[in-house]
Amino acid sequence: MPSPIQINSRAIVPHRIFCVGKNYSEHIRELKSEASESPVIFMKPVSSLLPVEKPIRIPDHGSVLHHEVEVVVLIGRDGKDIPENEAGAFITGITLGIDLTLRDLQTKLKKGGLPWELSKAFDGSAPLGKFLPYDDSINLADISFKCVVDRKICQKGNTADMIFPIPFLISYLSGIWELRPGDLIFTGTPAGVGPLHLGNKITIESDLTGTFTWEVKA
Ligand code: ZN
Repeated sequence: MPSPIQINSRAIVPHRIFCVGKNYSEHIRELKSEASESPVIFMKPVSSLLPVEKPIRIPDHGSVLHHEVEVVVLIGRDGKDIPENEAGAFITGITLGIDLTLRDLQTKLKKGGLPWELSKAFDGSAPLGKFLPYDDSINLADISFKCVVDRKICQKGNTADMIFPIPFLISYLSGIWELRPGDLIFTGTPAGVGPLHLGNKITIESDLTGTFTWEVKA
């Protein structure tokens, strides 16, 4: 079982990881992909979670490991068919995470019309920062964040640029699944994704949530 997330004197066991693809136009362009009319949703198992103390390991079954920094929300209540304007009440925490992706393998799988799990759902594929308790003083539509690899800024984003904003995503997902405490939503990555190499130090940061660093090890 994954380690519980300590937040607001609760211990919440991670339940599922929902991920959103193609949520920032510039990133869609850099992947030479096309925008989608509804959110692109995929999942990672909770065994993908990697806390800040642990190193990132490059898996053997692919060769180009890309970083994708993303804002991550933690659901704290049960909810089905949640209206967009009530979505904030279901969020209990907010942080940043990395949707690690074996890009070479994902490109191959996409071409073959095959599922993406081999490229995105491996052990340690979801490094996750520490959660800040969420309350409605936080503006979900204006969170700036970035990804720095060995002191070079690679990705810079703001949730204002999302194609499908966070309340919409919560409403959309809850129309399909009953959301449960411990559900995590990785909300998509802005442009600037790129490869990680052995020895790199990757830092993701936001004034809101703080700074989290991982080392890439063999
Ligand atoms: Zn992603």
